[in-house]
Amino acid sequence: MGSVINYTQCPNCKTEDAYTEFWYKSGEEMINCTKCGYYHSSFIVRDEEGKAIKIDKDKDFSLDNIEWKDVHIEKPYCSFRVENKDGIGQIATLESKKELDKILADNDFKYQGAIKVSYSRLFRGKIKETIVWKK
Ligand SMILES: [Zn+2]
Repeated sequence: MGSVINYTQCPNCKTEDAYTEFWYKSGEEMINCTKCGYYHSSFIVRDEEGKAIKIDKDKDFSLDNIEWKDVHIEKPYCSFRVENKDGIGQIATLESKKELDKILADNDFKYQGAIKVSYSRLFRGKIKETIVWKK
């Protein structure tokens, strides 16, 4: 399904490094900041077959008769990145230091093909990047 991606200003850290993705057929949308981890998405809840779930089973499908899920991480702990040799590998918003510590304790990035593991966060009004591991 097609989507449009645009870069935009982050509502949290105010850098221009947030991006929005909008799926024009379903109306689903997401904004994610690659610097501080700010995240907001609005997605249709789907069953195992990928079909939208009706709120009122007796009515027809329409945008206001299907279940939507909103995820809003307004004050994230950080944006966590694992880069592989092809560029960005994975990017994730983490909500707490505890979550970051657990990921760092549970993974041995050296053996997972990563070339750089880092995270960045908004700290006292500035973006601070920390490199955890580099090949
Ligand atoms: Zn941000």
